[in-house]
Parts: sequence; C-alpha cells; structure tokens
Amino acid sequence: MSVTDAKVASDVEARLKKAEALLEGHFQLTSGLHSDRYVQCAKLLSHPKEAEAVCAQLAKRFADTHVDLVLGPALGGVIVAHEVARALGTPAIFAERKEGEMMIRRGFGVPKGAKVLVVEDVVTTGGSVKEVLQLVKDAGGEIVGVGSIVQRAPQSPFDVRYESLLQLEVTAWEPAECPLCAQGTPAVKPGSRPGS
Ligand code: ZN
Repeated sequence: MSVTDAKVASDVEARLKKAEALLEGHFQLTSGLHSDRYVQCAKLLSHPKEAEAVCAQLAKRFADTHVDLVLGPALGGVIVAHEVARALGTPAIFAERKEGEMMIRRGFGVPKGAKVLVVEDVVTTGGSVKEVLQLVKDAGGEIVGVGSIVQRAPQSPFDVRYESLLQLEVTAWEPAECPLCAQGTPAVKPGSRPGS
C-alpha cells in the first residue's frame, strides 16, 4: 500500500467512526456468524458531503482508465455509484434484485462495448458484485474494474481489477465458538433496533 493509500484508508476509517458507521460490540451478521465489529456504510453515505468526498477518492483510483458508466448493486451500491460517477463525469445506474435474481431494470441498460466500473459500499463475499459483473458481460459491456469503500474479504474475490479504500477483515465466529457469547453478552442484529 502506498503512503497516499494508507492516508486515505485512515481518513476513511475516521469518517466512518465519526458517522457511527463503524461499530464495536457483539453482532450477529446476516450470515449468522457473530462478530465484534460491524460496518454500516449507509450511516456514512447519509451525509452527502461525506459520500461525495469518500467516493471521489474511489473514483481517483480509476483515474488511469476510461470509464463510460458506473454501476452498483442496490441498495449498498446505489449512492456509491452515483457519487463515483459524479467525480468521473459519467452516468450512474444500479442493478437490483427481483424475486431473488439480480437484474438491470427501470429502462437502464449497459451499451455494447461500454467500459463499466462496478462499485459497492462494502465487499464481504462479493456475491452481489459477481452477479452484476455477469450482467455486464451478458450485455456485452467491458468491465474496467470493481471498487468498494470497505473491503472485508481477506483477498479480492474477483478475477478483475479491484480497488478498495479501507480493508477491515471480518473476524467472525460460529455462535458455538464465539468468545463474546462465552462471556455471556447477547449478540445484537445491527440495524434491527429502531434508530440503530
Ligand atoms: Zn456471539
């Protein structure tokens, strides 16, 4: 990691903490695993100026390549795509799930041969992004890369160029092996409480 990239990473971490988007405690993740940290990027992205500033850093990572279109999976990728596209001067579109299947709807499309940057807020397994990459390929678009604000995967889950601003590996346990459960504290589902 370059000095500049390290500076950006600590800046993004500070912004996440300030927005209470980076929580420490005892959490039950969507996967069912328990963790001592939780990232809720939506809390950061709810501040337009923060979203603009952070996504401009992500756009900068792709300054060396031509991008025609930025595409993100809903919901996490919608604002990221919008703000990265603002910085790059391109349109932004999103893909969404209908009956479980990822698709591009609402009259959006990927023109044949378009150079497409796929973005997401947080990449853990990269499942949704991989589905979006397939949609781009099926439409005849050219993938220039994937970008995310936070990377929770230890390595890139993608076979294309991948840039992230902050790597925060998930420390997660099966509930039976969770040291926090062993201490007797209850796990909370992040976002399940009103106002959280
Ligand atoms: Zn636990």
